[in-house]
Amino acid sequence: MNIILLGAPGAGKGTQAAIICKRLQIPTISTGNIIRAALKSGTEMGLKAKSYMDAGRLVPDEVVIGIIKERLSDDDCQGGFILDGFPRTIPQAEALDSMGIIIDKVIDIDVSDAEIISRLSGRRVCESCSDTYHVKYNPPVIENKCDKCNGTLVQRRDDHPNTVKDRLQVYHEQTEPLKGYYSKQGKLFVVKGEGDIDEITRLTLTAIEA
Ligand code: ADP
Ligand code: AMP
Repeated sequence: MNIILLGAPGAGKGTQAAIICKRLQIPTISTGNIIRAALKSGTEMGLKAKSYMDAGRLVPDEVVIGIIKERLSDDDCQGGFILDGFPRTIPQAEALDSMGIIIDKVIDIDVSDAEIISRLSGRRVCESCSDTYHVKYNPPVIENKCDKCNGTLVQRRDDHPNTVKDRLQVYHEQTEPLKGYYSKQGKLFVVKGEGDIDEITRLTLTAIEA
């Protein structure tokens, strides 16, 4: 099963992907995580992407399409995958189609802008394994330490309030039109993304199994 998780930044795509990929035994591919890892290891692509990320803008289509093309050709993706954060523009969705990738389901995690702002201001990520927490809604057992690997939790640079506003605007202008794109193909399932994380997982799995 090839699945896309759609939704605003902070809608809970990464949180849900981490749970669902274990249940379905398929990998999650997060372009954001791939770009941050490239930046950490100082590659040319990572350094180029940094200015876009820090400004809350999208990295150019050709860069992310290149990343996805390479990653989806790996052996572990041949039995299905979950895309988290890709596609984010119509040309990216068209690129998947022209690669011959068949998407089975697109789950849109629907969360209001006000809730997004509160989620992103409290989001913390593990600098070692990228696991995601929230200071209030999903806190780690030990403050600022990752439950999984004991790594240090940090705030993402692009989760600062000024950048969040820009990211939301980019989402509405460039990513939201994908709902229409996939709805026309009969692949879109909308899940209400506010409330208990386990309940949202249940609704997402129900949509996937429908
Ligand atoms: P995305 O991957 O869509 O950017 P995340 O999965 O990183 O979003 O979630 C954004 C923030 O909201 C994180 O701090 C996460 O812990 C928190 N979060 C995720 N799902 C929920 C939820 N259902 N209710 C409250 N907070 C949530
Ligand atoms: P994320 O971790 O998904 O919130 O992504 C963080 C940032 O990485 C985004 O704000 C963009 O700058 C960049 N990025 C990740 N995925 C994409 C994509 N599919 N298209 C363009 N930019 C992306």
